[in-house]
Amino acid sequence: MDFYRILAKARSNPGELDAGDIAVLLDPPDAAAQQELFQAAYRKKVELCGKRVHLRGLIEFSNICTRNCLYCGIRRDNDRVSRYTMSMDEIIRSAAAAGEFGYGSAVLQSGERNDRQFVDLVEEILLKIRELPYDLGITLSCGEQSLETYIRWRKAGARRYLLRIESASEKIFRAIHPADASFTGRKDALQRLKDAGFQTGSGVMIGLPGQSIADLAQDILFFRETDLDMIGMGPYLPQDETPLGKMFPDQGNAAEKRLELALRMIAVTRLVLPDVNIAATTALQAISPADGRERGILAGANVIMPNVGDVSRRKDYQLYNGKPALDENNSLIREKLIASLAAIGEQPGFNEAGDPQHFFNRIKKNERI
Ligand code: SF4
Repeated sequence: MDFYRILAKARSNPGELDAGDIAVLLDPPDAAAQQELFQAAYRKKVELCGKRVHLRGLIEFSNICTRNCLYCGIRRDNDRVSRYTMSMDEIIRSAAAAGEFGYGSAVLQSGERNDRQFVDLVEEILLKIRELPYDLGITLSCGEQSLETYIRWRKAGARRYLLRIESASEKIFRAIHPADASFTGRKDALQRLKDAGFQTGSGVMIGLPGQSIADLAQDILFFRETDLDMIGMGPYLPQDETPLGKMFPDQGNAAEKRLELALRMIAVTRLVLPDVNIAATTALQAISPADGRERGILAGANVIMPNVGDVSRRKDYQLYNGKPALDENNSLIREKLIASLAAIGEQPGFNEAGDPQHFFNRIKKNERI
């Protein structure tokens, strides 16, 4: 049967998988085949980093955004959101919490702004984090910026950057963004991140209206062709206050089906790109609070991003419906995470940077060219 033949090829020669092969892997014929897929991907994850999960303390430091993505709860035109930017003190306290908790890394995430005040603010945050007595690997997720800005932030101490393309299909990208968003512009920004020396990450939403298995296979090829170091992807979750959420509200067990499809995307991505970091995102946990992220790890993901920001901010940073742990304090989040990883035979990689191996392989490969 095609599926098992291609799964064998994925184990031995993942570089030879084409779009057709990837589409077959994304659509296993039955539950047993799906389980084999997850197990094969999990074995690759264990080969990459053992039975450990890299942690990133997530700081959602501002929900002000100049963009209007049609799916996003903090889009510019959503006037039901109370807008905030954390004070410098609050941000640095949150970063220190990530260090104290032993997370080894922190992610600074915000809406997109390109004004000078914002660019300066991020640079100042990075410089202040460097003064903390922790060796924190910092990831930024602050949208599309100029090369000059990326270089400034890189020099100030950030070493990873996440910029999701959301779909590598131009047709779908256009359908979920307003007219002023440019597909080519997003791809160019990913190239600028690599030029600035960042460990570069991107990702997609899974189960978008009108998205096919063939589209998702193209997404994985895009990850490979763009030579990405990190992938962050999750099931699409409608948000009530957005145009897309209003047009396509969830019905029946659609969310559970998207969760399963997202797990298959994680597994196939792990097989195609064995040395990248893949996040088990919060969107998995939103659909299945008890075990969504853990199922992501067992499907081949190796990174989790527990929140370390102030609890009071969380309700104002809801990109989609059902954001989990809205009122849990950070110590409780940490305790629950340790317990839930132990339950699947995994442990947190405390005080480890958890850099993606792919980044170092990419740099070496480019030096040889
Ligand atoms: S997805 Fe990002 S850029 Fe788009 S509206 Fe939301 S925060 Fe802004």
